[in-house]
Amino acid sequence: MNPVTESFGSMVFNDSVMRQRLPKEVFRQVQCSIIDGKRLDSTAATVVANAMKDWAIEKGATHFTHWFQPMTGITAEKHESFISPVGGGRVIMEFSGKELIQGEPDASSFPSGGLRATFEARGYTAWDPTSYAFIKDGILCIPTAFCSYGGEALDKKTPLLRSMEAINRQALRVLKLFGNDLVTSVKTTVGPEQEYFLIDRKVFEKRKDLIFTGRTLFGAKPVKGQELDDHYFGTIKPRVAAFMKELNAELWKLGVMAKTEHNEVAPGQHELAPIFTTTNIAADHNQLTMELMQKIAKKHDMVCLLHEKPFAGLNGSGKHNNWSISTNSGVNLLEPGETPYENAQFLLFLCAVIQAVDDYQDMLRISVASAANDHRLGANEAPPAIVSMFVGTELENILTAIENDAPYGNTKKELIKVGVHVLPKFPRDTTDRNRTSPFAFTGNKFEFRMPGSSASISGVNVVLNTAVAESLRQYADELERAEDFETALHDLIQRVIREHKRIIFNGNGYDESWIREAEKRGLLNLASTPDCVPYYLAEKNVALFERHRVNSETEIRARYQIKLESYSKVLHMEAQTMLDMAWKEILPAAARYVRELTETALSRRALDPHAKCGFEAGLAERLDALTASAAEKVGKLEEKLAAIPEADALAQAHYYHDDVLAAMEDLRGDVDELERLTASYCWPLPTYSEILFSVN
Ligand code: ADP
Ligand code: MG
Repeated sequence: MNPVTESFGSMVFNDSVMRQRLPKEVFRQVQCSIIDGKRLDSTAATVVANAMKDWAIEKGATHFTHWFQPMTGITAEKHESFISPVGGGRVIMEFSGKELIQGEPDASSFPSGGLRATFEARGYTAWDPTSYAFIKDGILCIPTAFCSYGGEALDKKTPLLRSMEAINRQALRVLKLFGNDLVTSVKTTVGPEQEYFLIDRKVFEKRKDLIFTGRTLFGAKPVKGQELDDHYFGTIKPRVAAFMKELNAELWKLGVMAKTEHNEVAPGQHELAPIFTTTNIAADHNQLTMELMQKIAKKHDMVCLLHEKPFAGLNGSGKHNNWSISTNSGVNLLEPGETPYENAQFLLFLCAVIQAVDDYQDMLRISVASAANDHRLGANEAPPAIVSMFVGTELENILTAIENDAPYGNTKKELIKVGVHVLPKFPRDTTDRNRTSPFAFTGNKFEFRMPGSSASISGVNVVLNTAVAESLRQYADELERAEDFETALHDLIQRVIREHKRIIFNGNGYDESWIREAEKRGLLNLASTPDCVPYYLAEKNVALFERHRVNSETEIRARYQIKLESYSKVLHMEAQTMLDMAWKEILPAAARYVRELTETALSRRALDPHAKCGFEAGLAERLDALTASAAEKVGKLEEKLAAIPEADALAQAHYYHDDVLAAMEDLRGDVDELERLTASYCWPLPTYSEILFSVN
């Protein structure tokens, strides 16, 4: 057998392992719980736990953990060993069904957004049988959801699973209307493309900003940046290739289908794309991917930067969320079909997405909001903060023809009656390559390009799933009542296009004129996190999540709180790091260089009183003035940090944005100019060029 196919999934307790190791009846029960979400009974759970433990021990595991995703956005685990005392100082390896199904980590220091103030400090974790258990570093990891005792979701997985149920419920109603009685479940699928930077560990270790905040807080423009685009799809350097090889091998063992890898636009930037899979599994796999990237980079003496904007003025890193919906019979509902009925069904699902993106543009924006991603959106080859949708010219022409009952196409001039006519074959628009659209239809899926590289994909998919579920709910309500299905369907599609076409924009999203045009259309342009987060509490948004039982109002308020608090915390940390670097490294270096220049001038004049020393004296004077100005700005930033208002989380976040961030940018301006004028041997920090080209 080929070594790759042999090792693929070797650390995963997947279907084939379960089929081998579980009695037929128990295997069937596990399958049911995977497909229908039915809870396993305790006898079956005991059998599964035992088989899982034996398998894990054979693979060298000694501990197990309930692996979960608290609202910090990273994963958490608390290891427990399998050992259990049996008397006489001896132990056996044990793992019970109860331990498999439910855990009780004392997780009181995870952010709860106030949820835990009113409930017990302890939460509980519950097994998600739809995502396979796996072994990582000798630990059996059991993917789990994490809730409070009151049942409130304290994590990112629970709402994601609920949103998948919501879209499943509504899509099945719609599919029934089209006569698809055999479909029993509908799932959304995601393939997240992960961007990242690799830099050498030695330069990383010399920069406190990278160490503490993941991004450079200072740094003058490099002499050579990404102007030549010569890095994009370029040859992969041997060190990077070795890293990618090991990363792939490790991911494959965990069943993660890492498929493509290439260099990105900025120097030092790369991308990994997996083959798409069911959304909650894709979310788990993406967390594992990020974790392994960081770990394996270290082994190769590099550091993997997952921050959205590690370098000002260069491309940031995103995580393109490729999203679609398919049935258990394997039909991709966003794939145009062959027959009139398939076409009509495709159009209706397409409309559901168009309407969802328009109705919940605010929620989509919120789902990607963070202090880090704010720097990326709207800058260097990243989509703007305005949510709009690209469908391609051909598809837009078809939609326009349907909207106006007008003929489509140049040659035959057909009228398109939904449900009666076959949709004309239209070529896939290749302009989706321009990447300027935040939300692009790419033939049989949508690519949402706003998510940031370090964030969990759960949040964006919760919004997408739930918002589309809502469109589908409205359509099912309307069509189930219709006397003539075909006419009702045609009218519905026509109306949705008419009401929501404003969200469709095929032009250049990076263009200034788009901002004005979007405003005319009434689309939101929410530039920063504090600008968008208040929309979380808008009545229509709370109603959406409550109606589909994805999040309660209490849970939404908690998430609102956490988003704002973490925004302020990140900025606070960044400001403090800047101050520390300024006092300890930058200002002393600048002062020393000024002193050296002055001493040189003085010693030359001691020899020759008429020596002009134009260079030394002139530069010393310029640098002296700049250093004084930088020092003043350091003082201003300190004042801002000393005057954080005692206010609610929103007012504080606004203060951090308007006052602290502005003072940080001001200080950076002076320091970057200092860097430009200071001799390399005096500058204490690796420069952009040194960082970006540090991996050879
Ligand atoms: P493109 O070249 O158009 O970007 P790719 O085939 O390279 O398309 O796909 C990009 C990403 O989209 C991959 O991660 C891929 O697995 C994912 N993808 C493809 N089809 C689907 C789908 N039906 N649902 C979700 N993701 C998908
Ligand atoms: Mg792509």
